[in-house]
Amino acid sequence: MDVLNRQFKDVVILGGGPSGLSAGHVLSESGSNVLVIERQACVGGLAKTIEHHGFRFDLGGHRFITGNRQLEALVREVLEGDLLVVERSSKILLDGKFYDYPISVRNALSRLGLRTSIRLVADYLWEQIRKHFTKTPIISLEDWVVRHFGRSLFDVFFKEYSEKVWGVPCDRIAKEWVAKRIKGLSLGVAIRGAFSRAESRRLRTLANQFLYPPLGIGQICDNLQLRIDQTGQVVTDTSVIGINHKDNEIQSVMVQNAGGIHEYSGSEFISSIPLTVIVQLLNPQPPVEVLQAAASLRFRDLVVVTVMLDRERVTDQTWMYIPDRDVPFGRIHEPKNWSARMAPEGKTHLVVEYFCFSGDAIWTATDTALEQRTVRELNRMGFIEPDEVFDSAVLRIPKAYPLFEVDYIQKQKCIVDYFDRFSNLELVGRGGQFEYYNTDHAMESGIAAAEAVRGRLALPFVVETPALVS
Ligand SMILES: Cc1cc2nc3c(=O)[nH]c(=O)nc-3n(C[C@H](O)[C@H](O)[C@H](O)COP(=O)(O)OP(=O)(O)OC[C@H]3O[C@@H](n4cnc5c(N)ncnc54)[C@H](O)[C@@H]3O)c2cc1C
Repeated sequence: MDVLNRQFKDVVILGGGPSGLSAGHVLSESGSNVLVIERQACVGGLAKTIEHHGFRFDLGGHRFITGNRQLEALVREVLEGDLLVVERSSKILLDGKFYDYPISVRNALSRLGLRTSIRLVADYLWEQIRKHFTKTPIISLEDWVVRHFGRSLFDVFFKEYSEKVWGVPCDRIAKEWVAKRIKGLSLGVAIRGAFSRAESRRLRTLANQFLYPPLGIGQICDNLQLRIDQTGQVVTDTSVIGINHKDNEIQSVMVQNAGGIHEYSGSEFISSIPLTVIVQLLNPQPPVEVLQAAASLRFRDLVVVTVMLDRERVTDQTWMYIPDRDVPFGRIHEPKNWSARMAPEGKTHLVVEYFCFSGDAIWTATDTALEQRTVRELNRMGFIEPDEVFDSAVLRIPKAYPLFEVDYIQKQKCIVDYFDRFSNLELVGRGGQFEYYNTDHAMESGIAAAEAVRGRLALPFVVETPALVS
């Protein structure tokens, strides 16, 4: 392999998404000589915002929400206060009827009809009694939801949407995922919310407001990049193709860009490259059981189709969830309802998410076929007229969601345990740790890694970094 040049950096960070850039920001503010290497043409990873002929959209709308006040303060500071508070308004479209999301019991009962409502409540009460007498283990999403909400509620509200998102039956999806996502919500709480004004107000503020940068979620990473570039360096369009290690230490990374192959050595390394990919980059290779564990962990992929419309606005919703099997996509959002600056005046756009596996019929369909199908479906659902569409964009996003199949934990542990041996490498982020992290969690993981590195390099404390709360 012909290496064009070799350089040394204090800290080399692999991947320029929220986790890598947060780590880079903290370390460069502490005076460290930081290099961030990003494969794509721009930073942001899954939390980037695309600009297309005056329209802006995230890869599926990204709300920013955190219980970590210090992290929120850091984001506000990085955005120089440029942050909107958006009222969340979401619906689930089931059999042509809109239901509130998060599920409001009053709304659900009034739309489901008396017979289904009675069955739903009876099933819930039955589960509450049954769990005191039977101790069947909870392994999957299906077990967890049925135990907490009853079979009918699972069938009506959870089954189809979850299977659409994950592409596997609900009894194959690990309970750990659902417990993390729906924790704290019980039908009892929701029922109290439906009948008590105070409780409903409390639930609303918990679930129904979020923060959003006016130019899209990508503004956070774009600004982090600008900060790092003041003292360090963020290189884009550059892929990490190899990681050299010896005696439980990372020595250097090999990277490739249009200029050729380069080698960067460093004291410390932080990686947000997907866990399943990084094992393949190691030189020498890890043991076969680690390679096998990585080969059997899967991600769910995503195709995003955006249609630009010659119309002021289509909906007043932030998100619409579509569980119905006969609609090929799972979620729609209208960026203008998040920030007026996402679309040119007098126009709007709808962003549609197709959950899929790379290589399947959706992933391999042509852009034209996907655009035509999207317009046809949106028209059939009553949202748009075909002649209002004057432009569109199709994006394929690999490794959008770590797929938590029931046996994923042992495989994830096998890989993470192996990486523990490296004294100068931190794994961070959603793909990098194979965790269901949102942007705030990904940033927290990068900051925690930066803290560890800062301690090892004995760097001064310059910025106050947010403590981890989750
Ligand atoms: C559809 C969707 C909706 C979401 N909605 C929300 C939301 O509403 N709110 C929220 O908070 N979060 C949301 N998220 C989650 C959020 O996008 C992620 O948590 C966040 O982007 C994770 O950041 P990260 O840095 O860990 O990983 P990533 O964003 O995946 O960044 C990793 C980076 O590493 C780069 N990379 C990979 N391999 C290499 C290589 N070999 N060489 C160099 N670079 C490489 C990638 O190009 C990427 O830029 C959503 C995610 C998706 C997919």
